[in-house]
Amino acid sequence: MAEFLDRLVNARDSRTGWVKETASSILSISNSSILIKNLSYSIDNNLNTYKNIDLLIKKEENGKIKITIGKNLMEKENLNQKDLKIIDGKNKCAMPGLTNTHTHIPMTLLRGISDDMILHDWLKEKIWVNEAKLTKEDVYYGSLLGCLEMLRFGITSFNDMYFFSEEILKATKEIGLKGTICYPIIDFGTPEHSNLDKLLNGAENFIKKYKDEKTVKPAIAPHAPYTCSENTYIKCKEIANKYNTILHTHISETRYEVVEMENNKNIRPVDYLNNLNILDKNTIVAHCVWITKDEAKTLTKTETKISHCPTSNMKLASGGVMPLVELLEYNANISLGTDGVASNNNMDILEQMKITSLLHKAHRWDPTVADLNTVLKMGINSQSIGFENNDIILIDLGAPHLRPIHNIKSNIVYSANGNDVDTVIINGKILMENKKFVFEDKFINNIYNNVDIIKEKFV
Ligand SMILES: [Zn+2]
Repeated sequence: MAEFLDRLVNARDSRTGWVKETASSILSISNSSILIKNLSYSIDNNLNTYKNIDLLIKKEENGKIKITIGKNLMEKENLNQKDLKIIDGKNKCAMPGLTNTHTHIPMTLLRGISDDMILHDWLKEKIWVNEAKLTKEDVYYGSLLGCLEMLRFGITSFNDMYFFSEEILKATKEIGLKGTICYPIIDFGTPEHSNLDKLLNGAENFIKKYKDEKTVKPAIAPHAPYTCSENTYIKCKEIANKYNTILHTHISETRYEVVEMENNKNIRPVDYLNNLNILDKNTIVAHCVWITKDEAKTLTKTETKISHCPTSNMKLASGGVMPLVELLEYNANISLGTDGVASNNNMDILEQMKITSLLHKAHRWDPTVADLNTVLKMGINSQSIGFENNDIILIDLGAPHLRPIHNIKSNIVYSANGNDVDTVIINGKILMENKKFVFEDKFINNIYNNVDIIKEKFV
């Protein structure tokens, strides 16, 4: 106990100078162009593949990132070696950054706290009771850990929903990821505010304060139709419309919530949200496990974005399977989410691609569905959360499980995992190279230490 208290005091002392320490701990990040030479493979946003190619990442005067793929770019683009960061692309595959469109990042703190439990017991005995203990400082450290994890796995943008959103936004900026940070609204309150009016005000102030940020986008997240009233959804959409921001919500995750709504309101959840004018191109809904073909059509017609979270759905035994085949037939905009780490238990989007493919093949008794191009497209769909995908990650092909290469996309979807990500370049900045973060070890160790201390308070 004495040792634990000592660690706590030391950690608190180190927190005092945290901002200064983190800002100075980020090693110098070059703003010059990056040339990746002699790449063994490259995959672009349209999933075209190239062999033995160069890739140039250049920041233009207007701040936009321009990516050029071609042979001998050094000569062709008339590049000067001294303004360039050159990376050797041999045995590497370049591809667009991955995106995680439904998560609750600070839940990294609850990784592995309990598994294999009935949903209701799990929520009541393990999740809600421990979430109620989280301070805003805890959320900050959980967010730093989550951002590091995503960076390690080549995720360059994400869409989050968790209380103390300002801490999540701060951590996201410090690590350098792109994120849509959604301020959660629940009628009976969150650990941030116990009262709905305060939450709605908090959300509007949060969006107002950060709306002009470039790499992070503040947004609003009414939690779900079973925790938010009609009025709450309408007010949230008013705020989202006023600031032209995303509305992020859970929908039809369990059969129970759908049956409850049908019994109480005689309507299904998608129709319910559609009648309230919540569904449009600025809305992203997570799960959609228990939806009908008509609901799938409504989501597509309204251009609502869908975040598919297969691992979480399977682990929590949500029972149904999102009708991916029908949604794709109607041309729905679908991306992949990990959901919170407590129900996954990681944020590896490469792993999600494979799991998505396997789930739908097994479910439909059809190996042709959820093919590799389909799931790859879903894994890089950052446009669905408002970010152009101009990030590049390199996959290290120098591992036995990635050889030989008959089809590079097959190796990436079905053989690779997040640990094969070698280098991550976000907005023209290298944040991980040769599997090493650009942060000093003391910055990373401080995060791990604080997370270890926070975990002591959980039951
Ligand atoms: Zn969720």
